[in-house]
Amino acid sequence: MTETTGPPAEALHPNLNTDGLTDEQRRGGACTYCGGPLTTGIAVDLGERRDPDGVRVFPRACPACAERCAP
Ligand SMILES: [Zn+2]
Repeated sequence: MTETTGPPAEALHPNLNTDGLTDEQRRGGACTYCGGPLTTGIAVDLGERRDPDGVRVFPRACPACAERCAP
């Protein structure tokens, strides 16, 4: 079992705009917010979601942006 310590990532970023993201951002290779390159070790998973066209995207963010943009 995996213990969760809070709401799921997608709940913390409900208004994340997936429209206009680069391919790199859509697959989690770059920060969704600032566009900076991400490595698996530091990236914060924002939760899989779908863009307006129904295409699955896998947004991730660097820790600073994830903290700044969460409510
Ligand atoms: Zn960032």
